[in-house]
Amino acid sequence: MTAKEIPYKIYLEENEMPKAWYNVRADMVNKPAPLIHPGTHQPMTLEELSPVFCEELCKQELNDTDPYIEIPEEIRDFYKMYRPSPLIRAYCLEEKLGTPAKIYYKFEGNNTSGSHKLNSAIAQAYYAKQQGLKGVTTETGAGQWGTALSMACSYFDLDCKVFMVKVSYEQKPFRREVMRTYGAEVTPSPSTTTEIGKKILEEHPGTTGSLGCAISEAVEVATSTPGYRYVLGSVLNQVLLHQSIIGLETKAALDKYGIVPDMVIGCAGGGSNLGGLISPFMGEKIRGEADYRIIAVEPMSCPSFTRGRYAYDFCDTGKVCPLAKMYTLGSGFIPAPNHAGGLRYHGMSPVLSQLYDDGLMEAISVPQTEVFAAAEEFARVEGILPAPESSHAIKVALDEAKKCIETGEEKTIVFGLTGTGYFDMVAYEKFHNGTMDDYIPTDEELEKYFETLPPVE
Ligand SMILES: *Cc1c(COP(=O)(O)O)cnc(C)c1O
Repeated sequence: MTAKEIPYKIYLEENEMPKAWYNVRADMVNKPAPLIHPGTHQPMTLEELSPVFCEELCKQELNDTDPYIEIPEEIRDFYKMYRPSPLIRAYCLEEKLGTPAKIYYKFEGNNTSGSHKLNSAIAQAYYAKQQGLKGVTTETGAGQWGTALSMACSYFDLDCKVFMVKVSYEQKPFRREVMRTYGAEVTPSPSTTTEIGKKILEEHPGTTGSLGCAISEAVEVATSTPGYRYVLGSVLNQVLLHQSIIGLETKAALDKYGIVPDMVIGCAGGGSNLGGLISPFMGEKIRGEADYRIIAVEPMSCPSFTRGRYAYDFCDTGKVCPLAKMYTLGSGFIPAPNHAGGLRYHGMSPVLSQLYDDGLMEAISVPQTEVFAAAEEFARVEGILPAPESSHAIKVALDEAKKCIETGEEKTIVFGLTGTGYFDMVAYEKFHNGTMDDYIPTDEELEKYFETLPPVE
C-alpha cells in the first residue's frame, strides 16, 4: 500500500472499538510495587483502600493478573459520544519539515473537557454510581481533570466537589466556570473548609497551593463525608487501565493499515495518557512479540523520571494518602512559578516507574520555551492548537522527524496529542512576548526535597 492510500484521519468503525481495557500489569515480569500504608508500611488491602476509593476501582487498582477487563456497556455508550478518536497522519507537518519520517498522532482533544482525562473520569463516575454513592471529591491543577470529572458526574447525576489549586483557580476562571456549568462545586486550595487546609495555611500563609495539597483536602472530605469517595485523574493503576483505550484504538487503527511504528512518544505528568497509549505496544514488547522505542517526555522544570529517585514517597503534601513507590522529586517539590507547561506532579505512575526502571522505556526532559516553539510549529501546519502538556510530545516527535532528514531513515513515529490549549493562552502569551524562561532546578534544590522521602525499606 502506498503512503497516500492511508487516509489523513484513520477512524475505527464503531464496532471496532475496544470492548475491554488492557491491563499491562498482567504481562509485566516485575510487577509495580504495591501502595503501602503510611503507618505500618504493609501493602494496602482492599479493606483499607475501600473507605477512600470506590470498591470496584480498588479491585482494579490491586489487579495485577487479568490482562483484559471488560468495559461496561454504559461506559462504552458514553465513549461513543467522542470516540473512537482519530489517529491522524501528519502529512502537512511531514511536508513542511521535509522529513522522510511518517508521523502519526492520536488526538484526544475532541471533547469539551479538551483532554484524554474524560476516558477515566467517566469510568470512575460510573463505578461510584454503581456503588450507590452520593458524590466524589477530587483535586485539579490546571483544571482539565476537574472539568472531565464534572462532565462525567453530571452524566451520572453525582455530586462533584473539586479542590482547585489556588493559583489556577485565580488565573483560570474560565476552566472554573466550565466545571460549574456541569454542576461541580469548586473550592480554591488550600482552603479553610478542611483541617489539613487550615494547617497548611497556618504553616504557609499566602501559599498559592499545589496538587499535593489539594489531594490532601479532597481525601479528607471524601473520608469524612458519608456517601463520598475520592477519585484521582492520573498516577494510579486504575487510571492507566482506563486510558488503555487510547493505545488499543491506536494499535487497532495502525494494524488496519499494516503500519508498524518504530517509536511511540507521549508526555508524562502522572503518566496516565502515556501509560494508556503505550500499553498494548509495551505488552508486545514484554512478551517478545515486537520491539518499539517507547519515550516519555517531561518538563526540565519537573523532571521526575530523568532526575528523580525511585523510592516510596507520599502522594500528597498532607501525607494522608498511601505511599507509592515511584520516580519522585519528593512530595514537597513544586515546580518554579514561571513553569507554565503543566505536568507538574512530583511523582510518576508506579507502573511506568517500574517499566522505566526495567529499561523497557526511555525518558527525555525538555525546556519549556522549546516546547512552546514546537507547539507553534505544529499548530501552524496541522490546524490544532495543542495543550502545553501535549506539546512536550510534539517537541520530541519533531526532533526525531528532523533526525530522519539527516539520516534519510523513513521512521514511523506515533505520538499522543492529549488535548487542546485554548485555556492556556496566558502561557502562549508569555512565550510570544518573550517573557517565558526555562527554569531548571539545581541539584542542591532537588537534594533538599529528597531528604523528605520517608524511610521505607
Ligand atoms: C493532565 C494532562 C496531561 C498529563 O497527565 P498524564 O496523567 O501524565 O497523562 C497531559 N496532557 C493533557 C492535555 C492533560 O490534561
